[in-house]
Amino acid sequence: IIELNEITKSYTRGAEELQILRGITLHIAEGDFVAIIGPSGSGKSTLMNTIGLLDSPTSGSYTLDGVATEKMSDNGLAQLRNRKIGFIFQQFNLLPRLTAMENVELPMIYAGISPKQRKEQAKRMLTKLGMGERGHHKPSELSGGQQQRVAIARALAISPSLILADEPTGALDSKTGIEVLELIKELNQQGNTIVLITHDHHIADNAKRVVALRDGEIVSDTRGDAWSVEVPKLEEAHS
Ligand code: ATP
Ligand code: MG
Repeated sequence: IIELNEITKSYTRGAEELQILRGITLHIAEGDFVAIIGPSGSGKSTLMNTIGLLDSPTSGSYTLDGVATEKMSDNGLAQLRNRKIGFIFQQFNLLPRLTAMENVELPMIYAGISPKQRKEQAKRMLTKLGMGERGHHKPSELSGGQQQRVAIARALAISPSLILADEPTGALDSKTGIEVLELIKELNQQGNTIVLITHDHHIADNAKRVVALRDGEIVSDTRGDAWSVEVPKLEEAHS
C-alpha cells in the first residue's frame, strides 16, 4: 500500500543544507503493522508527515495505494489524504470547542459525506471505541485515554486505507497507553494497515515489523518471529 523510493528531505538553514531523510526506500504491504523507531531527531515525524501527505519530499517517489503522488497538486494531495489516511497523534489534536461527536464527524465533512450518514457513522465509531455515551462531551471533559479513543474513532471514521499513529501513547499513563495499544492491535487484526511511530522499543515490539531509523536512514528492518507465520513476506505480497 506504501511504496517509498529513495525519499530525501532537506532544509536549508542559511548556507547550510540539513539532510533530514537520506534516501528512504520502504515498501509496506496492506494489512501490515509497522513500527518506525529511532532516537529523537532521527526523522520519524518527518517520515510520517511524508507518508501522511502532510509534507512533500525533496526528492524520491511515493506511491500510496497505487496512486503516484509526486506530481499531484496540493489540492489533489489533500483529497487523497482525506480519503485514504487516518491520523492519530500524541496530543490527540481534538478541536476543543467541538464535542466528541463533532470531532469524529470532521473528516467526514472533508470527505463530503451527508450530515445524516456522518452522524450515524460517528455514533457507530464512538460506540466501537467504547465512547458511545460520551458523544456530547467536549475534549476537556474527557480523560487522556478517552480523548485518544475519540481521536481513534475520528481516524477510523472514513474507513482509511492506512492509519498513521505518531507516538499515540506518548501522552498517556502506562496503563491507559497499553489499552490504546491493544485497540490499535485490534484494528490491525480487523485488517487495517498501521504505521506507528515511537521511540519506545517496548511499544514497537507490539508491531509485526519494526523499521529503525537513525540520522534519516533505515538501519534495520525486522519482522517479529511471533508474527511471521501470519504475515506474508513483502515479496510474496507484491507478487
Ligand atoms: P522526536 O522523537 O523528537 O519526535 P523525530 O525522529 O520525530 O524526533 P523529526 O521531527 O522528524 O524527528 O526531526 C528530524 C530533524 O529534522 C530534527 O533535527 C529537526 O530539528 C529537523 N526538522 C524538522 N522539521 C524541520 C523544519 N521545518 N525546518 C528545519 N528543520 C526541521
Ligand atoms: Mg517526532
